[in-house]
Amino acid sequence: MEQKRPCKGLCKKYRVKKLVGVGRYGSGQCRCQICDIWMDYRGCHLESGVPASVNNYGWICNCCNFKVRKNPRNKKSKEKLRETNSQKITTK
Ligand SMILES: [Zn+2]
Ligand SMILES: [Zn+2]
Repeated sequence: MEQKRPCKGLCKKYRVKKLVGVGRYGSGQCRCQICDIWMDYRGCHLESGVPASVNNYGWICNCCNFKVRKNPRNKKSKEKLRETNSQKITTK
């Protein structure tokens, strides 16, 4: 049987400490709500399957394959994110 838990623990490798005084989202870090973790771009890929880089958008967690939060300024994209999170995203 498939496990329902999306977090496989892969994200922990890329875990980062919260930076104080620096914009977390602006420093190549993101928040995966599914895994409940802060990590950097190395723990993410893009929808096209290529590894994420700092200047890209639409990061997807390598671990749970859900979109991560990177840009908090755009409230509308937050809402979209929530929608996307409820869908199953398949890579490959
Ligand atoms: Zn995870
Ligand atoms: Zn994740």
